[in-house]
Amino acid sequence: MRRRDLLKSISFLPFATTLGGELIVPKKTKGGNLAAGGRDLFKELGVRPFINAAGTYTSMTGSLMRQEVLEAIRGTSEDFCLLDELQDKVGEKIAVLVHSESAVVTAGAFSALTLGAAGVISGNDPEKVKLLPKIDGTGLKTEVLCQKAHAIDYNHAFTNTGATIVVIETAEELENAVNSKTALMHFLNIEADKGKILHEEWVALGKKHGIPTSIDIAADVPPVSNLWKFNDMGFDFVAISGGKALRGPQSAGLLMGKKEIITAARLHMPPRGANIGRGMKVNKEEIFGMYAALHHYINYDHDAEWKIWENNIALIENAAKSVKGVTTNVVVPKLGNVTPTLEVSWDTTRLSVKDLQEKLRMGDPSIEVMPRTDKGIQITVWVMRPGQEKIVAKRLKEELAKGLA
Ligand SMILES: *Cc1c(COP(=O)(O)O)cnc(C)c1O
Repeated sequence: MRRRDLLKSISFLPFATTLGGELIVPKKTKGGNLAAGGRDLFKELGVRPFINAAGTYTSMTGSLMRQEVLEAIRGTSEDFCLLDELQDKVGEKIAVLVHSESAVVTAGAFSALTLGAAGVISGNDPEKVKLLPKIDGTGLKTEVLCQKAHAIDYNHAFTNTGATIVVIETAEELENAVNSKTALMHFLNIEADKGKILHEEWVALGKKHGIPTSIDIAADVPPVSNLWKFNDMGFDFVAISGGKALRGPQSAGLLMGKKEIITAARLHMPPRGANIGRGMKVNKEEIFGMYAALHHYINYDHDAEWKIWENNIALIENAAKSVKGVTTNVVVPKLGNVTPTLEVSWDTTRLSVKDLQEKLRMGDPSIEVMPRTDKGIQITVWVMRPGQEKIVAKRLKEELAKGLA
């Protein structure tokens, strides 16, 4: 499975345990948050909750918000404020935390890419803001350059502005491609090792040609230092997801970068309406929640959490490989979703990956894992609730033993 396909979301609920110094408050024993009046809305609607042994996938509803985030949401939900004032104040705080000139809370990393590019294209002219996405022939710059290895589906974030993607492979091709219409040079961190041009050279080429550079680091914490690394390096704007490892709201993210770009990007955002970003609204509680998530993440004991992940992976690994014919391997991806990842392989002519997935899915409690290749599955523990690793270890062993008997 390609790295970028593995990048997406987290999901679960509460047991009373401390995780890396974080208190996870109990609400109910199994399978569900209780809404007002003790209603189990999962049950009421017939929606299947599951243990997420896969990772931070949008399709699996991303990540579970930290308790601090939920408190921030709850604690700010009973008063009004001005949206722009809130973004100003939160943006100032976030900018200091991530070493950027400015920052704004967006509706995810994808939205941050669109808005950042829109800001670059329009600049601070409200009349130009209104032209997007019909920018051809307006005199506005219309091209976004990226490396071939970085040209993924998420580039739609840029074409939404009306821009065209121009793909290059080498520095020489880039030099030839740069022209008076080039608006932006974009870099995708998870595929950094696949491209011919690395971060520093990309930034230097941008500066040489006077073209702003951007980077997508949506799934690139941990390590925590990535929050500021690319701002320090000189990228003009940086986009990250709020709802992956940061465990903020799944529908939030951050756009960080040069003040003039962020200021222009905000002309494309609510409360203003004659723009391409009006549909990318982030509510007040989520803006506060995103700030709480970031603040908490930066001050978190990442080493302690890593040890818990390693221990939980080892527990599941030992259970799986105790079944005859099962082999395991623990890897840590170098880029994107940097967390201990267990690869489990077996003779899939005897038990198909699909069958195992389905058995785990239909069990009680339901468990989601990721197929890796046709040779097996992969498992992460970073979005599990404490204690769920034991259930996953037991169920995985059971189903592997049954299927390979
Ligand atoms: C998840 C992801 C996105 C989209 O992020 P959202 O916060 O869901 O908008 C963009 N790029 C990459 C590389 C991702 O992994």
